[in-house]
Amino acid sequence: MLRQIAVLVLLACAACAAPAAPSITPSATPTSVVLPTMAPVGPTILASDLGKAIPTSNATAQAAAPTRVPTNAPAVTPAAVGFEFALRPQFARDLNLVTNKTVYTIHWELNDDLSTLRGTQRVIFANHTGAPLNEIYFRLFANYPNSDGSIEIHSVRAGGNPARAALEQDNTALKIPLARPLTANRTLVITLDYTINIPRDNKVRYADFTRSEWITTLPTVYPIVPAFDDKGWHIELTPPYGDLVYANSSVYDVTISAPAQYTVIASGQLVQENPQGARTSWRFIGAPMRDFDVNITNALTRTSAQVDDITVNSWSLSAHGDSGKRALQWTVEAIKIFEKRFGAYPFKELDLVETPTSAGGIEYPGLITVASNLYADPGQLNFFEFATVHETAHQWFYSTIGNDQVNHPWLDEALAQYATLLYFEDRYGKEVARNIQQNFFDNLYEEAKQRYGDQPAGKPVSAYDEDAYGAFVYAKGPKFFQAVRDQIGDDAFFKALQTYYTDFKFRIAFPPDLINAFNVASGQDVTPLYKQWIEG
Ligand SMILES: [Zn+2]
Repeated sequence: MLRQIAVLVLLACAACAAPAAPSITPSATPTSVVLPTMAPVGPTILASDLGKAIPTSNATAQAAAPTRVPTNAPAVTPAAVGFEFALRPQFARDLNLVTNKTVYTIHWELNDDLSTLRGTQRVIFANHTGAPLNEIYFRLFANYPNSDGSIEIHSVRAGGNPARAALEQDNTALKIPLARPLTANRTLVITLDYTINIPRDNKVRYADFTRSEWITTLPTVYPIVPAFDDKGWHIELTPPYGDLVYANSSVYDVTISAPAQYTVIASGQLVQENPQGARTSWRFIGAPMRDFDVNITNALTRTSAQVDDITVNSWSLSAHGDSGKRALQWTVEAIKIFEKRFGAYPFKELDLVETPTSAGGIEYPGLITVASNLYADPGQLNFFEFATVHETAHQWFYSTIGNDQVNHPWLDEALAQYATLLYFEDRYGKEVARNIQQNFFDNLYEEAKQRYGDQPAGKPVSAYDEDAYGAFVYAKGPKFFQAVRDQIGDDAFFKALQTYYTDFKFRIAFPPDLINAFNVASGQDVTPLYKQWIEG
């Protein structure tokens, strides 16, 4: 996520895509069971099938051959598709990096005006915690306070039996007590039936969950299992700013039925588009992904480009076609730079979607959103490029390497900011990068120090007010990375980030993991810099 900020940016490079004149961006404002005994809900996918073909027992899916295959995607039949389908072929084995993967099979049926959806969801929860569990939690982010949106849970079954689930944390957490403990490394099938009420022109939380004239955005509004770490289940209610998802990489099989005039853009890879009279159903496979984003539109059009075997799709309003093409090019160049600097992008596809969000943009696995007002306003070209690249960087730091975005937001945000600076350095040269650093980091940090006094960059989101969060995490935080690079040199700095990326691919990293990577690569101790910039 990136807040919209007021910055004066002077890009000194003629080759830069920014306008020659400086631009000013205005401030915007149970029972544990052995799986094969369970009756399937929807397509049957067993934990033992991960990485193999999805079973062909779903008659509907088999009967309907896709009549339109998306551009740039190979023609496939559902029976031939396994969870590795979302990954570039050379990374298919990355599925094995996630042990005890939770498997989501989700069916959504949107009503005609997209104001509600009915969901059925089968979750094979794999106890990855290393200890017996007496309860399992789901987060219900659609019930976020002060939003007109909501999710109503109609039924919950655990291990095939009705479960007495209870709402907690202002209805944003669903506790499912288990009849007997679920031992470590065992799986439990949980099924949920629900209705999601989709709010019109919702402004809460960066307008990320909303229904507008031209797009309906459905971020992590389905019940999602939160992370469980040494602090237990993460069900804390977050402030209305900052990111809220902290979850393990999982596998997703998502089928969405909507009126035929709409197009569905989602995390993961489209497997099948199946017209059925006045409606169309769309099936996506996403893995390994730590959450799953869905957008439904009757207005966005696509332009695409390739980076090797990665397809990048830019979805924009036709009136903003030039901006959509620009953003596509920035994303393509950012992927090339980040692959060189950090490591390979794992998925076959990345979608870039124009949305009404009031943030600059928001990241999801395999999909980023960028604010429509940035597409519309040529005066914000610099920030538009910055925001697009920042969200792209999150594919490395958040989507691939996960972290506790609620309690350690700097770990992905400050690094995404520094990665964005690297993009400007590699693409336009050091002088442009110096201007970016000055305007996006140094000036904002200095202003914040005047207003708040100096604060650490490493606090939880809830420890800051919204402006301080933006300044200390996003402007001071990246200065830590510059300080480390200055001390240990480019070779060790980039080697450390590459090692960190490889070692924590599809896992959760904590701050000591990153510090350790710098120390090992350099043979030095960067802890004093960590204490200065992140803790101090
Ligand atoms: Zn961000």
